[in-house]
Amino acid sequence: MLNAQEAEALILELVCPLHRERDVETVDLGVARDRILAATVASQLDFPHWDNSAMDGYAVRYADVQDCPVVLEIVEEIPAGVQPKKSLQSGQAARIFTGSVMPNGADTIVIQENTQRDRDRVTILQSPQFQEFVRQRASFYNAGNPLLSPGIAIGAPEMAILAAAQCTQFQVYRRPRVAILSTGDELVTPDSPLQPGQIVDSNQYALSTFVAQNGALPLPLGIVRDRAEQLKQTIAQAIISADIVLSTGGVSVGEYDLVDRILGELGGELHVRSVAVKPGKPLTVATFPHQKHPCLYFGIPGNPVSALVSCWRFVQPALKKLSGLSNYQPQWIIARSRDELRGAVKRETYLWGQLTFLEGKPEFALARGSKSSGNLIDLAQTTALARVPLGEKSIAAGEEVWVMLI
Ligand code: AMP
Ligand code: MG
Repeated sequence: MLNAQEAEALILELVCPLHRERDVETVDLGVARDRILAATVASQLDFPHWDNSAMDGYAVRYADVQDCPVVLEIVEEIPAGVQPKKSLQSGQAARIFTGSVMPNGADTIVIQENTQRDRDRVTILQSPQFQEFVRQRASFYNAGNPLLSPGIAIGAPEMAILAAAQCTQFQVYRRPRVAILSTGDELVTPDSPLQPGQIVDSNQYALSTFVAQNGALPLPLGIVRDRAEQLKQTIAQAIISADIVLSTGGVSVGEYDLVDRILGELGGELHVRSVAVKPGKPLTVATFPHQKHPCLYFGIPGNPVSALVSCWRFVQPALKKLSGLSNYQPQWIIARSRDELRGAVKRETYLWGQLTFLEGKPEFALARGSKSSGNLIDLAQTTALARVPLGEKSIAAGEEVWVMLI
């Protein structure tokens, strides 16, 4: 059985990221939020576009203001958004404001606090540095150079940069398609009155949300009964229509656990059958080498907690890598555990809870209630998984623990 690190590395290696030419679409700036850039963006504009003032004050010639105080003639006022009309001659100054374009002939700004004004004259009280408070054209960015690189997600700063650069349309990766199916004779939809023994298919909702939160398109295929023919048909359809398939249930060793056999019949190569983790030990990962379009199959345990923990731990980095994101590795940090954390010794154990901060220091607070993988109720508000390593019985309250952010 693979350990968690081996499984993670193997899964990431199996991922075929979306293609930088075939798997892209053009989007408008207004709807680009959270999309992933597929091509380098460059701008035809320099930043700043013009030499401009960083402060309210006076544009001057440095040569005129080396021996202060000195009186200069104000020949123009330059509000923001206006092109200066005059070229400064020796002995002249222009009133200027933050962001206003520098007039020709001026090379330095004197802030208004260091001046005294008298109608069309200004006394410069204190010598500035050469070029002080001038933002030079192209000092932030030179037109034509790469501005944003492929593989980054578009958030608020990137939106601002793209807008400022007047990039109103650009290429992003298409959203990965993720088929989701729930297997089990006991499953019903949330709107069905429960007969004895029936269970609501909560995984369909959990996994669809998880997929959407990761920027992918969920393709919900519903509940499939534990019948080989029906299951085979649905899985066959899923693997041709999706980049990733997530099925829950049917991968342990129960009599009705048909998924692995069916994957084999459909030409699947099984790379992972189980991982030494708790929860989530039964985990099937398969690829379909005979299929033209790559598909990564995850057969996930049916227990609602195991299902989500497996998604967070193993599917999430794979999905991010497939999406084209360059930063897809799971994020681990060290936190102090508020509670005692018990491990399963023979398996790396994940305990769900919340990462909080106490006086700036990260702390992990274990979820309350039963740690049964069937107890989905206490999974609410989970933001992190704490890890008790293989071979360790427990981590005492107050000790440090590695925590994965989800
Ligand atoms: P399995 O992995 O199929 O053996 O299922 C393990 C447990 O998880 C059983 O108690 C199932 O009833 C439950 N389960 C399986 N699939 C789902 C699902 N889609 N939603 C909620 N619970 C499920
Ligand atoms: Mg089942």
